[in-house]
Amino acid sequence: MRDGFVYNGLPIRVIFGDGTLARLPEEVERLDRKRVLILSTAQQRDQAERLAELLGKRAAGVHPAAVMHTPVAVTEKALARVTAEGIDGVVSLGGGSAIGLGKAIAVRTGLPHLAVPTTYAGSEMTPILGETDNGIKTTRRSGAILPTVALYDVALTHGLPAAFSVTSGMNAIAHAVEALYAQDRNPIVSIMAEQAIAALVRALPGVVADPADPAARTDALYGAWLGGTCLGSVGMALHHKLCHVLGGAFDLPHAETHTVLLPHAVAYNAEAAPDMAGRLAAVLNDGSRVEPQPGGALQSFARRLGAPTALRALGMPEAGIDHAADLAVQSPYWNPRPVERNAIRTLLARAWAGDAPITP
Ligand code: NAD
Repeated sequence: MRDGFVYNGLPIRVIFGDGTLARLPEEVERLDRKRVLILSTAQQRDQAERLAELLGKRAAGVHPAAVMHTPVAVTEKALARVTAEGIDGVVSLGGGSAIGLGKAIAVRTGLPHLAVPTTYAGSEMTPILGETDNGIKTTRRSGAILPTVALYDVALTHGLPAAFSVTSGMNAIAHAVEALYAQDRNPIVSIMAEQAIAALVRALPGVVADPADPAARTDALYGAWLGGTCLGSVGMALHHKLCHVLGGAFDLPHAETHTVLLPHAVAYNAEAAPDMAGRLAAVLNDGSRVEPQPGGALQSFARRLGAPTALRALGMPEAGIDHAADLAVQSPYWNPRPVERNAIRTLLARAWAGDAPITP
């Protein structure tokens, strides 16, 4: 703080609440859109069809073709439809996959994008787009990628399976954790990060106990919004880099990979980022439980909720550990503690086996 800070507010309209989907037609009208295309994955096609009914004649159709990692070929097919059908806006309904497709279309066409998130991944709040082409994932950042509107409806999250809610919630916690030690961190984002972690740590046990618990679901989605805001506002470091490397090299599932790695990344950085470590430990340790290492406390939290704690359980081959360590140190990036290959290899080997996190 003594060194001052820079804070950039994200220019996005956010609507949050229970039952807010009913307000989507007025949002589309507000933007004077007459033919919007609704984007979803195949799994959420029925939900997208219901959304089209809600929008009535302002909905031109449903495009249920979104998949993970935003392949350019999928975007190009959707773009052909946008042009052929005179589409004047897109609505993405779903998690990071559907929202990624919405961003890919918006950045190429300049059309407004209304995102309706149904997971806790947070993509709706970021000006970041990761796309894959011929097996290579590239990520870019631009104001034109940030959606115009993010409409959060707690009711839409009740159907998110408990197990995925936990890993997706850990994905949101990861954004907040890295925001606490980001090179460009600032007081507002740190407040949001702390609140994000607290809301999700409070909410996820309640979601597991009863996936339809409205209070737990509200808290979890609120934490996800804050976590997404952190991701969209400041730079990330080792943890996100490792997830990106492993996701790309071994096609590992996004939220689960975040869940397994985060405790290890926290342990790696804990000494170099005492503010993060202190805040995280304070949130995770209630009166009944005290685990001084925040990485260990986070892994225990995830394990209690039934989440995976080993990369091998996600399908990563043991022989890939060295390759992943090489990739992780290939292009330098900022991290509170220097990124050293031997220490990263130890981290990855422990995460692969499901061992307790240590500071390597
Ligand atoms: P996802 O969007 O792939 O969703 C996982 C599955 O859950 C899908 O089949 C989806 O249809 C289904 N689903 C989503 N919400 C549901 C609900 N409420 N009920 C029932 N099923 C539901 O997963 P994700 O973790 O949200 O997103 C991962 C993708 O997003 C990755 O490609 C990742 O790189 C990207 N991402 C990007 C950013 C960014 O800022 N650019 C941020 C986070 C994630």
